[in-house]
Amino acid sequence: MVVSPDALRPPAPPPDDRRWPVQRCLSAQCGAQLIWAKTPKGKNTPVDVEPSPAGTILLVDRGDRVPVAIVVKAVERDQHAGKLHTTHWATCPAAPAFRSSR
Ligand SMILES: [Zn+2]
Repeated sequence: MVVSPDALRPPAPPPDDRRWPVQRCLSAQCGAQLIWAKTPKGKNTPVDVEPSPAGTILLVDRGDRVPVAIVVKAVERDQHAGKLHTTHWATCPAAPAFRSSR
C-alpha cells in the first residue's frame, strides 16, 4: 500500500486558545474538563472548558494562567458569541457535593 507523505504527518495541534491549565472535575460521577478561574472578587470558580451557546462567562487572560471569569450581560453576549463559557456548577451532575466541598 502506498501511503502519501501527507498521511504520515502528525495531525496539526489544535489552535492554542487554551492558555489555562485544564483540570478534571473531582467528582467521580462527572470527570468533565474544567478551567479554574477567579471572579473579579477573587473567588475561585470552575468553568467548563468548552464554550457553550448558553454560556454567560467570558474568560479574560491576565497572563498568569488563571483567567478572570467575567459574567457578560445579556445585551453584550452577541459580541462574544462562541467564546462564552458556563460555570461548571450549572452542568456538573454532582454540583451539590461540589459546592459543599469548598
Ligand atoms: Zn463536575
